[in-house]
Amino acid sequence: MHACGHDGHTTMLLGAARYLSETRNFEGTAYLVFQPAEEGGGGGQVMVNEGLFDKFPAQEIYAVHNWPGLPAGQMAVRAGPVMAATDEVQITVRGRGGHGAMPHLVVDPVVACAQIITALQTIASRNVEPVDAVVVSVCSMQTSQVGAFNVVPDAVKLVGTVRSFRPSTRDLAERRLKEIVTKIAEAMGCSAEISYVRGYPATVNSAREAQFAARVGERVFGKGNVITEHEPTMGGEDFSYMLQARPGAYVFLGQGGAQGGCFLHNPHYDFNDEVIPLGAGYLAALVEEALPIK
Ligand SMILES: [Zn+2]
Ligand SMILES: [Zn+2]
Repeated sequence: MHACGHDGHTTMLLGAARYLSETRNFEGTAYLVFQPAEEGGGGGQVMVNEGLFDKFPAQEIYAVHNWPGLPAGQMAVRAGPVMAATDEVQITVRGRGGHGAMPHLVVDPVVACAQIITALQTIASRNVEPVDAVVVSVCSMQTSQVGAFNVVPDAVKLVGTVRSFRPSTRDLAERRLKEIVTKIAEAMGCSAEISYVRGYPATVNSAREAQFAARVGERVFGKGNVITEHEPTMGGEDFSYMLQARPGAYVFLGQGGAQGGCFLHNPHYDFNDEVIPLGAGYLAALVEEALPIK
């Protein structure tokens, strides 16, 4: 399982749909968007590209994601970036394999990669402004031969991710990553092939709509239960494409003390059904507050 609670989100929006259609305590049109293939599949981007806002011309857009660790009955929203741009990197460093006991006869891509992995951390520590955020994580390293204790492989593949908020930081990180990888590989006598694929852009709430969401949240959850000072997260979210097309706000809905102490994407994750009415109530209240009967 993806273990992110998207079934819970779907249930909340269905609840809001039922309430809104039965009570009709608003004037105007509200569109309820069930964003498919969130995260991995990028359904948000596909919907925008296929003309979501042409077919359903909403002026503002809002979304909810559950958040383990934030108490049930609380909501968090802030203006500005809330989630990061997520880029995927694949690097192949090629040398010349050979006998592990005769290093003078090989060009070792493993040693080159060891230096590349370490040097990539200087993007965060030495290139990006300290008060800005960037993450460079090399998450996988695979040599072209696995298991032999005495054979230097021909090639090594590294796979990782780069996260950022500002577009200029994203550009900088991509440029530095390519320079560091290419030049260290070259200095070690190797060659490097880099595939840098830009994934989702950062999820950025517009100021007015974030304030509006907070105000509606206060109505539903009570003053003191809407947190506007929370830190953004370096996770990614394809609702970002909708926020590029329309002003709006992506908020986090408290899940309660993470069950089993685990967070999203954890095999022990279990959506807290108790918050379904809270999420549904918030979504419905957004509509009633934005489109009051005159
Ligand atoms: Zn997820
Ligand atoms: Zn999710």
